[in-house]
Amino acid sequence: MIKITLDDVREMDRVDPLANCAKAFSLPDGVVYLDGNSLGAMPVAVPRRVEGLLRKEWRQSLVRGWTDHSWIDLPVRVGKRIAGLIGANEDEVVVSDSTSVNLHKLLVAALKLREGRSVVVSNQENFPTDLYIVQGLAWLLDDSISLRLVPTADIESAINEEVAVVMLTQVDYRTGAMLDIEALTDLAHQRGALVIWDLSHSAGAIDIDLGRADVDFAVGCGYKYLNGGPGAPAFLFVAKRHQDQAQSSLWGWFGHASPFEFDTGYQPSDGLARMQCGTPPILSLVALDTALDAFMGTEMKAIRAKSVALTDLFVELVDQSCQGFDLDLASPRQSVSRGSQVSLRHDEGYPIVQALIARGVIGDFRAPDILRFGFAPLYLRYENVWTAVETLREVMITRAWDSPEFRRRGVVT
Ligand SMILES: *Cc1c(COP(=O)(O)O)cnc(C)c1O
Repeated sequence: MIKITLDDVREMDRVDPLANCAKAFSLPDGVVYLDGNSLGAMPVAVPRRVEGLLRKEWRQSLVRGWTDHSWIDLPVRVGKRIAGLIGANEDEVVVSDSTSVNLHKLLVAALKLREGRSVVVSNQENFPTDLYIVQGLAWLLDDSISLRLVPTADIESAINEEVAVVMLTQVDYRTGAMLDIEALTDLAHQRGALVIWDLSHSAGAIDIDLGRADVDFAVGCGYKYLNGGPGAPAFLFVAKRHQDQAQSSLWGWFGHASPFEFDTGYQPSDGLARMQCGTPPILSLVALDTALDAFMGTEMKAIRAKSVALTDLFVELVDQSCQGFDLDLASPRQSVSRGSQVSLRHDEGYPIVQALIARGVIGDFRAPDILRFGFAPLYLRYENVWTAVETLREVMITRAWDSPEFRRRGVVT
């Protein structure tokens, strides 16, 4: 194998067509941020925009802001912008609630469209909240529906004529393994089931084409690769063909055909707007809207190409510099089956990650033994990858991780 040098890596930065995008973000000095898959970095434009919203719009306009500043349209307007990043039509995405809540709304919508079938298929590797939402729904419905939980390898054989919904996450939050949206959607449809895709770990980093894959429903996070800030609202997608029949599990006034008539009876609005429930969080929506400016002038294909190059480089550099430390690759080696993260396994994963964080290389740990590194293509440089692997090598050689301060566990890991 030809050795990769620091000069090679700097050359990759020099010719990177997305190199300028990093200017739109503000990171603390000395930090290599490899956790944008958990909480995206702060775009520089957000503080000023949010401050303007507070001082000019809220303070001055007060309740008139809903119309004067079109706050009321923000869920749909921001939805349109996200649609462009995931291969959806503009009228198929709305921003609302959290990913967990949106899953509840869409699961019920999908189950109602498949009455007579009662099984939801998902994989054991799925993110726990997604599974809890199905379990809670089964409890609410006195077990008239059930969750069929199988290993990823058995998804295909689990989809039979009892299955109403196949609910999967495109990129595995632990290993970064990526499922084939098109193939699995096609399979579910052939067997008469609908699909709900969770794009939390892929929207903003992977080139997704929901239209081409003929996806029925999807949800995703606003605060990961979309950089909307802590607790940013999530998005949901309903294919046009389902919008007149699909109904949310949560009937709130923002989903009503005419909320300001204050009718005592619920009447769903036309189209996607019915998937909203209550008053949208305008501060957070404005932050998310502003954060999405960082994607302007880019193509998801170019972002994905850089995501592949960053993760490939990390894998190659770990191979080159971190042999003999019992670090195993937990992610697929082939980039076609990998999202925008690389995970390593080590029995001492937790203190190793803490020692890296103490040196400014911020990744995270996922139980039981996963060291997780996310690569956000908009603001990472190839040289950051070099620095991260050099720091990992130093931590392993010196056993700097082997210290009580790095073994103490926080509430959030
Ligand atoms: C991050 C993530 C969530 C988070 O859901 P919240 O409701 O925002 O807490 C859900 N599902 C997946 C797959 C995720 O990666």
